[in-house]
Amino acid sequence: MYSERLQKMRTYFESGITRPYHFRKQQLILLQQTIKKYEKEINEALFTDLKKNAEEAYIGETGLIYAEIKLLLKRLKKWMKPQTVGTDMLNFPSASKIYRDPLGVVLIIAPWNYPFQLSLLPLVGAIAGGNCVVLKPSEFAPASASVIQKIIHQVFPAEYVLVAEGDGAAIIPAMTDAFRFDHIFYTGSIPVGKAIYASAAKNLIPVTLELGGKSPAIVEADADIKVAAKRIITGKFLNAGQTCIAPDYVLVNEEVKQQLVERMAESILSFYGSNAEESYEYGKIINERRFDKLVSYLQEGEIITGGKFNREKLYISPTILHQIKAGAAIMQDEIFGPLLPVISYKTTGEAIEIVKQHANPLALYLFTASNDKQQQWIANVPFGGGCINNTVMYFSNHRLPFGGVGNSGIGAYHGKYTFNVFTRLKPVMKSPVWFDPPIKYPPFKGKLNLFKMFKR
Ligand code: NAD
Repeated sequence: MYSERLQKMRTYFESGITRPYHFRKQQLILLQQTIKKYEKEINEALFTDLKKNAEEAYIGETGLIYAEIKLLLKRLKKWMKPQTVGTDMLNFPSASKIYRDPLGVVLIIAPWNYPFQLSLLPLVGAIAGGNCVVLKPSEFAPASASVIQKIIHQVFPAEYVLVAEGDGAAIIPAMTDAFRFDHIFYTGSIPVGKAIYASAAKNLIPVTLELGGKSPAIVEADADIKVAAKRIITGKFLNAGQTCIAPDYVLVNEEVKQQLVERMAESILSFYGSNAEESYEYGKIINERRFDKLVSYLQEGEIITGGKFNREKLYISPTILHQIKAGAAIMQDEIFGPLLPVISYKTTGEAIEIVKQHANPLALYLFTASNDKQQQWIANVPFGGGCINNTVMYFSNHRLPFGGVGNSGIGAYHGKYTFNVFTRLKPVMKSPVWFDPPIKYPPFKGKLNLFKMFKR
């Protein structure tokens, strides 16, 4: 079913139409205008799928797309220009340039938690790179997937950008069996990421994998506890905890545990009120399957605050737990919901060992006043990215590459890095014909010292 449509995309790409700067620029402008036109519908869809409020929808979804398109419109021309680099003596007087080639027809697969942003941020980068795109939004955020389909359908012909809706486990293998994509950009869970990597390997298709994992927030004894509490709670309970870079659990020096827990409970009360179910600020769990999984974790520790739930409304209150049972699933799985386990430690070395049990987190957040401690964590623990004395906000700075390491992913994007992901470096050396000394040709016998002079 997809084979013919994908072949049409290949033909469209090979016609060269997507390559010129003016074409790319025009598509970005059209997309920007159409997103603006549909902003209300986008917000409604995000509310339906996740009970996201308009402010969160802007800061975590549409606003990021506008900013990225604005950046691309400002910088794309420069980024597309071939870069002239130096040439070594051996090749004198040749000239060397690095061109930026589009990849071709690329596949973008997105998850449900930031359904709009995680679909469109890679899409705008792929357009800027001069590619054709198949976009697969998540079936678990159907209202958002449907607005995405509507917008894309209105702006782009299907040979250029095609939205593939439906069950990813059925659609993606059907497409990848029928067609060789030039790149797969996947955001989602580790198990599906592994399956995609394995299937891409069969055809040597390059991949970018933006995965999850257990991201710790570490609070050292010298941290500003009041600020740490507010920032951990904000990052954790955004989108009801369904944020890939949310602090998954807290590691706190035992000297300040009590103080931190009290402050965090106060922050929950002040941000979401005494009944978060009614709060404008607070979202809902995506579906029953995820809800049931999250509720099952509540048995695994002692609840300090929260622990309330309502299946009908897919509501789970902002919850802090401690005294987690040995071997508990909540400390093995990525929680991806509004439950925050707090674990205390005695020394930084002990805390580092706990973090290493969940190797290579996507994000790490460290709260401390000590520069030495900051350097100790940065130098000793591999993590995708992170913040010092903050949570999640590094994501919104397009100058920082965003991606994982090891289990949390392969590759990084945002801003210029997205353009890099969706283009290939194509190096070309150009040699003049007027300079043609015999040293460049066989027989090479007896020229060793000359070669050594030019190449060392
Ligand atoms: P998921 O893996 O279930 O689904 C993501 C996408 O993959 C969907 O579009 C789905 O249709 C598709 N899919 C599902 N099964 C597939 C298969 N067998 N073959 C091909 N495609 C398939 O992930 P999710 O539950 O939507 O997202 C949650 C996970 O994503 C969490 O682990 C979270 O940390 C991670 N995540 C990471 C980032 C990041 O930027 N690193 C961002 C958001 C979410």
